[in-house]
Amino acid sequence: MNASPKPAISAEHLLQHIWGYPTFRGMQREVIEHVVRGGDALVLMPTGGGKSLCYQIPALLRPGIGIVVSPLIALMQDQVVALRELGIRAAFLNSTLDAHDAREVQARARRGELDLLYMAPERLLSESGQRLLEACRIGLFAIDEAHCVSQWGHDFRPEYGQLAMLRDRWPDVPRIALTATADVPTRKEIADKLLQDGRAFVSSFDRPNIRYRVVEKRDGRAQLLQFIRGEHAGDCGVVYCLSRNTVEEVAMMLAAHGVNALPYHAGLPTETRSRHLRRFLDEDGIVMVATIAFGMGIDKPDVRFVAHLDMPKSIEGYFQETGRGGRDGLPAQAWMAYGLADVVQQRRLIELSDADDPYKRLSTGKLDAMLALAEAADCRRVRLLAYFDEPSTPCGNCDNCLAPPALEDATEAAQKLLSTIYRCRQTSGSSFGVTHIIDVLRGKRTEKVERYGHHALSTFGIGGDLSEADWRSLLRQLAAQHLLEVDATHFNVLHLTNASRDVLRGQRRIHLKRREQPSERKRRTSATTTARQSVLSAGEFALFESLRTWRSGVAKEHGVPAYVVFPDATLQAIALARPRNLDQLRGISGVGDKKRDAYGDALLDLIRTHVESDAVSH
Ligand code: ADP
Ligand code: ZN
Repeated sequence: MNASPKPAISAEHLLQHIWGYPTFRGMQREVIEHVVRGGDALVLMPTGGGKSLCYQIPALLRPGIGIVVSPLIALMQDQVVALRELGIRAAFLNSTLDAHDAREVQARARRGELDLLYMAPERLLSESGQRLLEACRIGLFAIDEAHCVSQWGHDFRPEYGQLAMLRDRWPDVPRIALTATADVPTRKEIADKLLQDGRAFVSSFDRPNIRYRVVEKRDGRAQLLQFIRGEHAGDCGVVYCLSRNTVEEVAMMLAAHGVNALPYHAGLPTETRSRHLRRFLDEDGIVMVATIAFGMGIDKPDVRFVAHLDMPKSIEGYFQETGRGGRDGLPAQAWMAYGLADVVQQRRLIELSDADDPYKRLSTGKLDAMLALAEAADCRRVRLLAYFDEPSTPCGNCDNCLAPPALEDATEAAQKLLSTIYRCRQTSGSSFGVTHIIDVLRGKRTEKVERYGHHALSTFGIGGDLSEADWRSLLRQLAAQHLLEVDATHFNVLHLTNASRDVLRGQRRIHLKRREQPSERKRRTSATTTARQSVLSAGEFALFESLRTWRSGVAKEHGVPAYVVFPDATLQAIALARPRNLDQLRGISGVGDKKRDAYGDALLDLIRTHVESDAVSH
């Protein structure tokens, strides 16, 4: 049944003429060759790695239709729209289509008039879905978000397990399973359930264009506003918060300060949610403030920053959420404000959950790894990748690489802190919170200090050499490492733990990180400014902005998301190269034949007027 691929056209030719990209990325070529030859494949690439081409190009090269199984109904439509813009015959079948349109799509599939057909799994497994597939010539099955097959994962979908039948029913049709979720047991489960002697293609999980940054949380919301205004004015971004309340408050706060921000969480009416999602996808420069309900399948390529106002509960979560930035390969930032409250809050959530003990231990382990990443003084990327078993060397593109913090031995200070907690409890029979303990250490005679007679303690005033901020930072570090405990069920009072003793006996060294002053830091980052302005001159930047405005108009007119017309990366390349004719335009990454025909003249006109007005103004 497997006829050999149409030999006249190569994968490379399609890449260059349809997508307008000069070269394959990472393992794309190998995967494509393997699938075109009829092999099964498991593809593991991080978000933004370029998974889609791995099945789209084989679907064009193999005879018959490529069936794509995707669990995300809302996003099928965007994929299909983007493919049609490229001149590819694509369609989807899901519950959003009315009966008439669905029949139309099915008829086209039967007549062999489609290259790619996206289907929700329940649709594919239904009787009518099966009948349709029987009547079509099928070139390949692509199973997107393949980790949904894993019973132990957080995205488990029972229908995915039933996709095993594809192998029995169409043994000669190659299957390609794709995911960005990587752990080894999940890989095995996918291969066992969905593939036949599938070859695994595992890419590096590094996202070199993402700059990781963690700042000490003082006034998180003010810091966020400063970050967005200072480094990402007008950019598209996502801000993650833990609770629905925070989401709404932060969205309102940002909007009040002129940021184009919208809230998104599971408690909003469905209609509001989808309107906000639509605006985020279609318009430029929207900042979505969201809970993690805003998640899987956010395919927007030009998200320039992902900010966390609350720390995620695991490195997997952090990696996935931050991975939604910079899918287009241009610089993006992962920014997180982190403080003692995050440690307390996340521990408390585990405590309060009604999960069993083994699960709580597992969750505590994952949280501790996340805390270690947040506290790290060395390269964050090295730690991130190590968590996914990938060795690496310091990256030069995280806060700790760019401005290494100075480490000061603070073991003695930690001992003072712990013994103050101990003594306060011993003399008064009750425990105290952060502020009081720091007051005692720094020798502040507050009313409370006098009431409890803590000014008479031997540790009163022995910590005047450190600032309150230093003490808080030290406290947070000790709490993160279980060297002291914050009792969230009881006014956040502080307790010693068994491990505290190691510090008191000097068996464990503690370090305090010193960052340069915020003002110096600010000067340094604004010297590099936003990545885009550093790449483009003022004139080029102005052209880029005009191109974006033009793109918004076209997108509105065609009813498609702006990035479907052209992604930012392509507009930036055009602004840099200023092509003068269609031939020069062809050389630009992201300009395929169809788009050059459709938009080429308009683009050249726009560039010409820009160059002229530039000449006049100089
Ligand atoms: P994933 O599904 O792995 O998250 P996508 O398939 O959506 O990633 O690709 C991410 C972005 O990279 C898209 O904008 C895509 O067009 C682009 N892209 C993919 N392959 C290439 C390539 N070889 N050259 C340039 N851009 C590419
Ligand atoms: Zn680094």
